[in-house]
Amino acid sequence: MPGTADADVCVIGAGYAGLAAARRLAAAGKTVLVLEARDRVGGRIWTHRLSDGTPIDRGGAWLAPQHDAIFSLARELGVSTYRTWVKGAHLLIGDGRTRRYTGLIPKISPMAVATIAIAQFRLDRAARKVPLEAPWTATRAAEWDAETVASYLSRTRISSTIGRDLYDMAVRGLFAADLNEVSLLHLLFLVHAHGSINTLFSIEGGSQENMVDGGAGSVAQRIADELGDAVRLNEPVRSIALRDDRVDVSTAVGSVSARHAIVAVPPATATDIEFVPALPGDRMDLLRLAVGGMETKTMLIYDEPFWRADGLSGQTAEPNSAAEVTLDGSPSSGTPGVLASFTFGRVAWRLDALEEGERKRAVLDAVSARLGPRGAAPAAFIETSWWHEPWSRGCSMAHLPTGAITRYGALLRQPVDRIHWAGTETSTISHGSIDGAVRSGERAAAEILDRS
Ligand SMILES: Cc1cc2nc3c(=O)[nH]c(=O)nc-3n(C[C@H](O)[C@H](O)[C@H](O)COP(=O)(O)OP(=O)(O)OC[C@H]3O[C@@H](n4cnc5c(N)ncnc54)[C@H](O)[C@@H]3O)c2cc1C
Repeated sequence: MPGTADADVCVIGAGYAGLAAARRLAAAGKTVLVLEARDRVGGRIWTHRLSDGTPIDRGGAWLAPQHDAIFSLARELGVSTYRTWVKGAHLLIGDGRTRRYTGLIPKISPMAVATIAIAQFRLDRAARKVPLEAPWTATRAAEWDAETVASYLSRTRISSTIGRDLYDMAVRGLFAADLNEVSLLHLLFLVHAHGSINTLFSIEGGSQENMVDGGAGSVAQRIADELGDAVRLNEPVRSIALRDDRVDVSTAVGSVSARHAIVAVPPATATDIEFVPALPGDRMDLLRLAVGGMETKTMLIYDEPFWRADGLSGQTAEPNSAAEVTLDGSPSSGTPGVLASFTFGRVAWRLDALEEGERKRAVLDAVSARLGPRGAAPAAFIETSWWHEPWSRGCSMAHLPTGAITRYGALLRQPVDRIHWAGTETSTISHGSIDGAVRSGERAAAEILDRS
């Protein structure tokens, strides 16, 4: 839409944070315009339709039972959820063996299980000491923010190789990063923000318990439908200028003059926006240090979830392989069969460096070795390497290196004049997840409503 449009609030980014903010402001009677760079809403949630219309989630997909904010939005908008398939045996591959197990604990040595339990207990205990609203004020914040997660894990003394590999992979999966580049304080904060490390790792009772009928993007799409013309797609924001009592937001095709702006984009893409006047140096430092992780999510589509008939859940793990973790991501109807396969951090990067055909073969070999020959012949193979997505540049969320939270953490949500900040990176409860994004948008909307 060429020319200049007026609004009370201009929201930059139509992910869950931006959309939740816009919905809350519109409900309070404010005029809102949402500017979105992509040709779709949802951001790191990307519900893709197969040729028969089946929705599959190329990005975030799962909701924990504790995710009240997104559950309440889903209920209000008439979107239902269902339980992730967990029946059958899970598989853990490593040390040259395949272990079948049910429940939470793989059949590794009792000593390895005990040492993992101790490591988790210690992590949870330290995490509870990190205040969610202000992690930098924890009594041991300076010490924890000076150590990397990799260094911390090397001190956990898990007793077997497979136990160590499994635990390292699970933690690496949270940030999808090289754990030498992540502050321990960030891990402790993340764990507290989700209740416990087991909540983050688990299906039942945890972060992978529920899926959304119609795909995780359905709620976003319904908010966008409600907002109608107030959501403008294909309009990457190039500059945000503070002028007297207005904020002027410019895109390639036009501009918006608003009383307030909410920046609801990942930190990496925020650094590409020109701010006038320039953002304070420490704020820019924070945005530059908050880097998204490297994760590839590959969706394998089969006529049916054939592994279920073989007594398998579809949940498998093989640390450092081309399919480090797989989960059953089939729709509630059970057709088609959808297997979601993940690689994280350096493993994702290594796999990504292969030529396309080789990469596909590596993933299919890994899957068929676990689930049988039918695993080698999916009807569709859809991969997304999230750090190559120009409007996301990493996932699931940005991670912070040592020193960043204690130095700059207080700036994460602090408005710069009339510019407010949302996005899962700014959330406290459910940090890094869809629920955290929704909460952050609602918080930014409340800040503006309080000011006006
Ligand atoms: C592979 C993967 C798996 C995940 N799994 C889960 C999961 O199972 N459960 C869960 O809860 N979370 C999961 N997440 C994390 C979850 O997706 C995110 O926390 C959440 O979607 C972030 O929402 P957001 O609104 O903060 O940011 P985003 O979704 O990134 O939204 C930001 C929006 O801003 C737009 N934008 C960027 N720059 C500009 C610009 N200059 N101008 C205009 N628009 C711009 C982007 O296009 C995007 O639409 C996963 C993420 C990924 C990628």
